Amino acid sequence: MERSMNPERVWQATLGELELALQRPVFENWLKGARFVAYEDGVYIIAVKSAFAQEWLNQRLKGMIKRRLERLSGRSVDVTFIVRPELFSANQPAVMPDSPLLNTSPTNAPAGRFQHAPALPESNLQVNRSFDNFIVGEGNRFAYAACQAVAQNPGVSYNPLFLYGGVGLGKTHLLHAIGNVAVQDEYNVRYVTTETFTNEMIEAIRTHTNVAFRQTYRNVDVLLIDDIQFLQGKESTQNEFFHTFNSLTAANKQVVIASDRPLHLLTKLEDRLLSRFSGGLIVDLSPPDLEHRIAILYAKAYEKGVVVPEDVARYIAEHYNDNVRELQGALNRVVAYAQLHHQPLSFSLAQKILEPQQRPLDHSPDAILEAVAQEFNITISELKGPRRTRRISVPRQLAMYLLRDVAQLSFPQIGEFLGGRDHSTVMHGATKIEKGLQQDTEIQEKMERIRVRLRQ
Ligand code: ADP
Ligand code: MG
Repeated sequence: MERSMNPERVWQATLGELELALQRPVFENWLKGARFVAYEDGVYIIAVKSAFAQEWLNQRLKGMIKRRLERLSGRSVDVTFIVRPELFSANQPAVMPDSPLLNTSPTNAPAGRFQHAPALPESNLQVNRSFDNFIVGEGNRFAYAACQAVAQNPGVSYNPLFLYGGVGLGKTHLLHAIGNVAVQDEYNVRYVTTETFTNEMIEAIRTHTNVAFRQTYRNVDVLLIDDIQFLQGKESTQNEFFHTFNSLTAANKQVVIASDRPLHLLTKLEDRLLSRFSGGLIVDLSPPDLEHRIAILYAKAYEKGVVVPEDVARYIAEHYNDNVRELQGALNRVVAYAQLHHQPLSFSLAQKILEPQQRPLDHSPDAILEAVAQEFNITISELKGPRRTRRISVPRQLAMYLLRDVAQLSFPQIGEFLGGRDHSTVMHGATKIEKGLQQDTEIQEKMERIRVRLRQ
């Protein structure tokens, strides 16, 4: 955050953060629409709609709000709530529309469509991944309970907590769920992928800011670190991670680690790290059984505002049996097709759409480039080459996404594979497609067709 933000914007940004951090009813009842009136002698004067809200805020949230205002403004401040019911008449906008943190979901998005929530800048948490929308079944019951225990008492029960399980079984979801609970209890939380951690570290070394880098991590109460398998073979990062890990756990800070393979298969991690990891609790996630998959499908459909008939849910669940991400993808395909063609969601429709895709996807990077090149009628050397016209760059971004999602390459590996591109370019490209897949039917369709090619 810039230090020189004016007080009104600081308030808007704080309100935006609070909306993400607090439970919805809490925010709606007491804070929604609370507006900035003045900033005088270091005191933020904020209007709320009732004396009840004023009292409640004073008793329960004042400390938390003050701390956030201080962090965002970079100085020590206080906050006072005054009652101004007249400011809360129906058509007053609750906040300035240009608040960067509030302007997060496109207003033209289709109603009822599930939107990806923004991340809080400091914690990287996705607020829409919570314990509430994680469906529990046999394969994940124990992991779920362990994560809840950790979220409720960080640093106390199981430290570190080491979560492992195959791709798409909910590891990342659970990390965010833990973080979202801990943040509400005002812990300093940070979710970070191993890749981000590595990149930050390299950047810190390059800019001689190692001290600040260590400080950031050592100030964290709950560190959620994803995809630790990517730490393999990176010696200096392992070393830094080891020290960070030790100082956090020594101070009873919570560390939660997710891995797509069990400890004994992380063969290229230093022994001292492996032994630290095994010092806490290790839990695994196994693929959901049929009933569990059906329950997940119902929940996902509900989030999308769609009703799935039982036979359709069962059909999808029977055919996609090892990965929740693919299960969800299959549902999305059927729903997208039905909506696009104005057809009811029926058994025969599901069959028609999903049947040709039963063959497994070809995961190899070369096959992915080939499929993308064919779909767009361009060549593989154009994909790997320097040209940045739209004709080439959009297919290239799709390839970046697929190399990540299907071939499971890391961003630097993808950069190298695509003719020596920077990992941040790759990350940007893949993220762009990920967003496109939520909103842009053209990208959705292209992706579908490429996936069909990958099954041939
Ligand atoms: P992983 O990190 O293990 O590869 P993710 O956490 O990214 O998997 O999960 C993939 C997708 O499936 C996400 O959209 C996640 O929300 C969803 N998901 C996974 N398991 C469940 C579950 N048990 N209930 C609800 N959604 C789930
Ligand atoms: Mg993950």
